[in-house]
Amino acid sequence: MNRLKHAYVLLAGLLLLGSMLLPSAIQAQEPDDEEGVPKGFTRLEGDVVIHNDRIGTRSVWNTNLWPNGVVPYRFDAGVTGGERFQFLAAIVIMEDATDIDFVLRTNETDYVTIVESTEFENASFAELGRQGGEQFIIVGSEHWDNTYTLVHELGHALGLRHEQTRIDRNHFVTVNEENINPDFIGNFNPAEGRDVWPKRDYEAFGLAGAEVYDFDSLMHYGDTNFCLRDINEDCIGNTIDVNAPWTAEWQDGIGQRTHLSRLDVLTIQFLYRRSHWSFVDSTHSGTETGSFINPHNTFGEGIDAAANNGRLFIQPGNYSAAGVYSDPVVLDAPLGHVRLGN
Ligand SMILES: [Zn+2]
Repeated sequence: MNRLKHAYVLLAGLLLLGSMLLPSAIQAQEPDDEEGVPKGFTRLEGDVVIHNDRIGTRSVWNTNLWPNGVVPYRFDAGVTGGERFQFLAAIVIMEDATDIDFVLRTNETDYVTIVESTEFENASFAELGRQGGEQFIIVGSEHWDNTYTLVHELGHALGLRHEQTRIDRNHFVTVNEENINPDFIGNFNPAEGRDVWPKRDYEAFGLAGAEVYDFDSLMHYGDTNFCLRDINEDCIGNTIDVNAPWTAEWQDGIGQRTHLSRLDVLTIQFLYRRSHWSFVDSTHSGTETGSFINPHNTFGEGIDAAANNGRLFIQPGNYSAAGVYSDPVVLDAPLGHVRLGN
C-alpha cells in the first residue's frame, strides 16, 4: 500500500471525526501502571497478550500468519483522528520496509482492532500473529507518539516474538533474575518449541554474534526493562546483560526503538514470502515444504522444487550441488556462509 492511500484513509477518518471528537475515557494511572495487563486479557510474555476467550485455542506463531501478508485493521471509535494519524506512521514504516499490506477492514473475518487503553498510559499490548476473528492492539494513552513502539506491536501482530526469549538466548545474553521485579519474571522465560532464526547451528559454518542473535532487533527488550526498583525508584541493576565478547558493542544497543533491524525485516519478508521464493537449510529436520519455516534441507530438493525464474534462498551451510540445471533460478544467500560443492 502506498502513502497516498493512507493519506486518503486518514483524511476520511478526520472528516468523520471532526465533528465528534469526544473526550476518551482515560483513567489517570501512576507510572507503574505497566503492572498487569488490560482487563479481559492474559499476559503471554511482556506486552504479548491473549484474549481470555482464546486461551487454550490460540494458534502458534508459525502457523497463524496473515494470508498473502494482508492485514485488515480498524480503529476503535474512541481513537481520535490525531491518534490514527500517529498510528498510521507506524503502519507506513512497516509497509515501506516489507511487502506487508495493512488494509482498512470491510467485511474480513480476521482483523486487528486498534484501541486506546483505558487502563494504561505508558504500556501497549498486542496479540501474537493472526488469532482468528477480531483481535487487538491496545495502545497506552501516552504511547501514540512512540512510533517504533507501535511498529514493535505490529511486529507481534505479524507473528514476531521477543528476541530475548529465544531458547538459545543464554549463549548471547544473561538474564539477571535478582534484578527483575518478581511480578514480571515470567516475561523472561525462554519460549520452548519456538522456531529461531538465524539459528545458532549456523555458528558451525562461520557465523557468530550479531549474525546469529539479533541484538539490534526492534523485538528485543532493553537492559533495564521490568527491573526491581529501590526506594528512589532507580533500577537496582540490569535485567539483561549482553555476554562477552559482544558486551561493549551491544549492551547499550539492546532494546532500541528507533528502527527495524536488517534481520527483523528479513524475518518478516521470509515468513510472508513471495510466491516464487523458496528456501533451503542444511540444518533443518522435519517437515519440508520449501517455506522459510519448513525449508528443504538439500540443494537438490530445493532447486528441483524452485519455481521457474524463482528465487532460492540458501541458509548457511555446506551443500552438495553438482548437477546440470537448466531452469533459470536466482540463488540468494541472505546471511552468506554458503558453500556449494560436490
Ligand atoms: Zn513486545
